[in-house]
Amino acid sequence: MNTVSIRSVRQVSPLFLAAAIVVLSFLQARAEVTVRARVVEIEPEARVRIFWTWGGQGLGGTPFGGEWTEVPLDTAKPLMPSTGMTSSDALDALLMPDDKSAGDVLIENGKASDYHWLAKGVWSPELPIGNLYYRTVYARGCAPGDAGKAVAIKHAVFEFEVLQDGESVAKFTEESPSGAVCTVVLPGRMVKDGKVMPGFLEHARGLYELSRWRMEWMESLPWAGKKLPRRYEIISNLSGYGTDHGYGVRTSSLKVMSHEARTMRQMGINGVRHNPRFLMDAELRERCPAIKDLTYFTMSRTGGYPFPGAPRADSTGKRPPLPWGEGVGCPWHPAHSNRVEQARKEVEPKIAEYQGTPFVSSWELTVDEIGSAFDGTAEGKAHQGTCQHCTAKFREYLKDKGLIPRDFDVADWEPIRSTFGYFEKSYEQRMKEEAEGRERDRPKLMVPGEMPGVSEAQTAGLLGVEGAYPAEKANAGMSRDETVVDLSDADVEAGGSAEAAKALA
Ligand SMILES: [Zn+2]
Repeated sequence: MNTVSIRSVRQVSPLFLAAAIVVLSFLQARAEVTVRARVVEIEPEARVRIFWTWGGQGLGGTPFGGEWTEVPLDTAKPLMPSTGMTSSDALDALLMPDDKSAGDVLIENGKASDYHWLAKGVWSPELPIGNLYYRTVYARGCAPGDAGKAVAIKHAVFEFEVLQDGESVAKFTEESPSGAVCTVVLPGRMVKDGKVMPGFLEHARGLYELSRWRMEWMESLPWAGKKLPRRYEIISNLSGYGTDHGYGVRTSSLKVMSHEARTMRQMGINGVRHNPRFLMDAELRERCPAIKDLTYFTMSRTGGYPFPGAPRADSTGKRPPLPWGEGVGCPWHPAHSNRVEQARKEVEPKIAEYQGTPFVSSWELTVDEIGSAFDGTAEGKAHQGTCQHCTAKFREYLKDKGLIPRDFDVADWEPIRSTFGYFEKSYEQRMKEEAEGRERDRPKLMVPGEMPGVSEAQTAGLLGVEGAYPAEKANAGMSRDETVVDLSDADVEAGGSAEAAKALA
């Protein structure tokens, strides 16, 4: 803790002195780890607000985010010192308000918070370290004198400082060579009871150092110089590069990508999914042979199945009322007999896209994670058991395999359907039945004299007199699924019953 000189104290008002004492005692009392950020290089000149995000955007889960340069006006909240300074800085600033610093922070007033636009070299307020590991950090720029005038940042170097009880314990920079976005490790999980644990300092660093460390480790393994696969297609993702902060962008550094490419190559990978544009950069491929070695194969995505799915509102996920287009979602509906032609049309531009690129071969995914052509129907995969066209195609498929009804212990093809959705009703049928049910249950106007009487049997039933109620009515409210056929062993022996076939028809 630094000392307060008498000279300084004389210059400040009692209010300032009181504030200084509050800040000092607050700083002394806290046991916590915080982190602050600033830009130490920026091009072109701009004031910046500094943000962070974590998760989502291709990494799974819900994305979180925050801002170093947002200062909530509600000071009743348990606050981090909004000065963003260590104890010595804070005292200096309070005791010696400095005209020069006024221009270094442009304050934009919001309803619940002030937003600080920082000049190069000015630290942000501190934020609690939290319990995350990685954070993607990005800056937005404005003109030095005008928060309303956006400035596109072309190059920036961020600096981060981790403070424990207001004292610096770690400090590192991360460059954003082609924009203002980078990713850093701020291992909040390695903080316990407001103190950083031993591993913390080793982990706290930017993606450039992390990716380089990983690459060097992989390339130092005894077998690193041996042959790497070329003919087997081993594909992974290499994404996160971009020059603007946006969906999935984690760094603007091609050096980081180059480190990653070399690490991937050591893992035997020789192709990339969703090929990033920079892989097409001939100069970069020349400079980084590992990147060149990732361009044997690629995999991306076509526009899905070559026939339309059942309609569904994007916002609500609800299905519009029937009727819909003919055979929507059904792969075997005669309306889609042109689907091979349609698929060809969709694939052709993809083939053209890869002409002249370094990729030797390209795989195009119709749908992610295997998927099913039936998923486009209202019944989902159960569609195959409810649809006459799909059932007919299923029987054809079995016939092609040389199977006959006897192989299924039935006399003819009639009861043979895909078991997926065997007892399911079609969406259309379900809607029809629901509408009929609503009509049936609608309260009817009662006319005097038409009030239903209560029969003797019903009275007995209500009183629980055994046997008074006919057995078939005991299950009132439950309807038998007419499509269910219980084949007795004898039926099966006899090759299935005609009755069963009839019930299924
Ligand atoms: Zn179908």
